[in-house]
Amino acid sequence: MGRRIAPLLLTAALLGSASTAAQPLDERYRDVAGQIFGAALTDEEGWEKLRYLTTHIGHRLSGSTGLERAIEWAVESMREEGLENVRAQPVTVTHWVRGEESLELHAPVRRRLAMLGLGNSVGTPPEGITAPVLVARSFDELEGLGREKVEGRIVLYAVPWTGYGGTVVYRALGASRAAALGARAALVRSATGRSLSTPHTGSLRYEEGTPRIPAAAVTVEDAEWLAALAEDGVEIEVTLRMGAHFLPDATSANVIAEIRGSERPEEVVVIGGHYDSWDVGQGAHDDGGPCIAAWHALTLLQRLELRPRRTLRVVLWTNEENGLAGAEAYHASVAGEIERHVAAVEMDMGIERPVGFGFGLAGIDPESGDPRYETGYARLLEIARLFAPLEADRIRRGGGGADIGPLMRSGVPGLSLDTVGEHYFDWHHSHADTLDKVEPRDFRKAVALFAVMGYVLADMEERLAPVEPSPLNP
Ligand SMILES: [Zn+2]
Repeated sequence: MGRRIAPLLLTAALLGSASTAAQPLDERYRDVAGQIFGAALTDEEGWEKLRYLTTHIGHRLSGSTGLERAIEWAVESMREEGLENVRAQPVTVTHWVRGEESLELHAPVRRRLAMLGLGNSVGTPPEGITAPVLVARSFDELEGLGREKVEGRIVLYAVPWTGYGGTVVYRALGASRAAALGARAALVRSATGRSLSTPHTGSLRYEEGTPRIPAAAVTVEDAEWLAALAEDGVEIEVTLRMGAHFLPDATSANVIAEIRGSERPEEVVVIGGHYDSWDVGQGAHDDGGPCIAAWHALTLLQRLELRPRRTLRVVLWTNEENGLAGAEAYHASVAGEIERHVAAVEMDMGIERPVGFGFGLAGIDPESGDPRYETGYARLLEIARLFAPLEADRIRRGGGGADIGPLMRSGVPGLSLDTVGEHYFDWHHSHADTLDKVEPRDFRKAVALFAVMGYVLADMEERLAPVEPSPLNP
């Protein structure tokens, strides 16, 4: 399929009004961008939608009634707003529930500790698991201690924060690594750089062939306190109780809406985020704010009667947090026409002050000087000049996201809407991810960036990058 596109593109480039094609993109779209910024930066309704989602619906784990209500509300509201082709695309999702849970310290003192079971964890027996605690600062240290020291214990990983990527492996894999040495349960220091005694959940992954033991996050403060006690040779004993279990798979949905293209409606630019969240807080930064910003970008364009040449589509993906079934289902639904996807833009690092976009092409090193990448990068630099008044004109080499991952692996150019990222991991996956942490001005800027980037990518004569997406690309 892709091979037939190339000559068409070439023809379009040759015919495409020579005057506009020669003009840099920021010059071509300066007036439109000004119109959009004016509307987005003074808008109240987008914030009202985020306020409704977080205040009246709240958190939205896959399979929960919260997520189902959020989906129904979005579909209804999008239809009322007059967006086009509004639909809920059915997706079968995993349905994990936390149940009742607690962590009680018995020795050296009696105290109840703040905790959150990790997503996808198994539960404990009803009476809980009571055992001495063994503290490890790394996998190497744990494995050095060996089965003799670990067996029968509850392992506490008191691993210092070195950034999300370096720390999250203990949350993801710690249970299985401890179970392989005979541990009965695992506790992990929450994956966050700054803590106010808040535990942070997130999913774990059991390795095949090791027993599935329950696992929970504790606060940074408690992890460090228990580690200090252990260093001084103090015996620590706790009881971990977790009612976590899986229910039968549930039916959820990706929410989709469009502004149909005026000239090439079959070609699509996708913008969006994931609509599900963990079952704590309100999922305001992760990822409710970005979802509403992407949706409201379409709402504003439609109000301004700005219809790009290609179709601009918003997708609110379901089940990113504990399965990615939404991303896979969306990709499967467009796999036969993947070459029609011109670009995909995702925002999933909170909704702090935006600074620009990251740009990735799967399989191409962004630093390699590959002309396919450089062509897209140069076009984005032109578009980004429009964002200078918002101090959001940075184009980072490398970008993407979990939900657009399957599209990118098929060759679709991927962008992430980047923020300053100062506090995201302070709130991420915790009770503290709530609306009070979102600055309305940052939210409005994100709406403006989604709208302008989405509009320009969908409207410009040329495709962002001269690649040929194909379902055959791995
Ligand atoms: Zn997220």
